[in-house]
Amino acid sequence: MKTQNIASHKNPLGGSIEIIKQTFTSAQDKPVKRVSFVAGLHGDELEGVYLCHRIIATLRQLKATRPQAFRGEIHVYPAVNPAALGSATRLWPFFSVDMNRKMGDKNVASLPAEFARSLIEDLQASSDIVVDFHASNLHLKELPQIRIIEEFDKKLIPLAALCNMDVVWVHPSAPVFESTLGYNLNRKKIATLVVETGICLRIHQDYCEQIFQGMIHLLRQTGVLDLADPSPEIKQPLLVHPKQVALVQAGHAGLFVSDVALGTQVQKGDALGTIVDAVRGEVLETVTFPAEGLLFTLREQPVTYQGAPLARIALKETL
Ligand SMILES: [Zn+2]
Repeated sequence: MKTQNIASHKNPLGGSIEIIKQTFTSAQDKPVKRVSFVAGLHGDELEGVYLCHRIIATLRQLKATRPQAFRGEIHVYPAVNPAALGSATRLWPFFSVDMNRKMGDKNVASLPAEFARSLIEDLQASSDIVVDFHASNLHLKELPQIRIIEEFDKKLIPLAALCNMDVVWVHPSAPVFESTLGYNLNRKKIATLVVETGICLRIHQDYCEQIFQGMIHLLRQTGVLDLADPSPEIKQPLLVHPKQVALVQAGHAGLFVSDVALGTQVQKGDALGTIVDAVRGEVLETVTFPAEGLLFTLREQPVTYQGAPLARIALKETL
């Protein structure tokens, strides 16, 4: 394993802020493909950081025991927003900048923008496929899924189907995506999958294990890893377009309480939970599912306001 530092800045209070890249080279002169894994663009999203640990540990052991298995090249960038990760915040502290809204930006007058540029340039120079790991916010918990902007769907759906996800969600483009890593790399013809899973500031080992298996499967199916043993079965994700996603919203401000598990196949009319007024001891609302499908987003943070998202259901259609 080769360790490189692709961006560095001396911290005036001591130490330095660095983006580290771990590389596993190919046993062949010309790698069949180059795959990169990126995590921690948002500093409070830790699922991907842990996933990178799993990937590095596994590949390191494989490199030591079966170096010929590496037909392609693999790069892992486990913590690309170190300042934000250090304080467990989504944004780069002090600047309050979202590093994943600085990609493709010509203006590099700030440190976060400079780091964003170093990262995207390095990924561009060393990748054919990129996987960018994200977690949800504090309010909503997500089943392992890949989100694809419509204009890139033809190239990305076949790759996303290899990744052991529950859901692949194709959605229209919007200006807000134009400064993200995924959008900018896809525009430059580097296939980039954006993974969303779990919730921020937590690690769900079961989801991470599922995605880890998916990443190994992706590496095998793209010819990057050549392993003789049979590939384990992976999930076939539900492919959904915006019209196949039902959003359930709160009708009242209160506390949302639910005992339905994320990942449940629900029926129309099934109970999702209640919204209660704790001060008056009243149930304000009993919330039911509006359709049949897979519960793939669920509110974890109980405080609601009118219109607060409570759940999303993927209506059925297999890839
Ligand atoms: Zn994120």
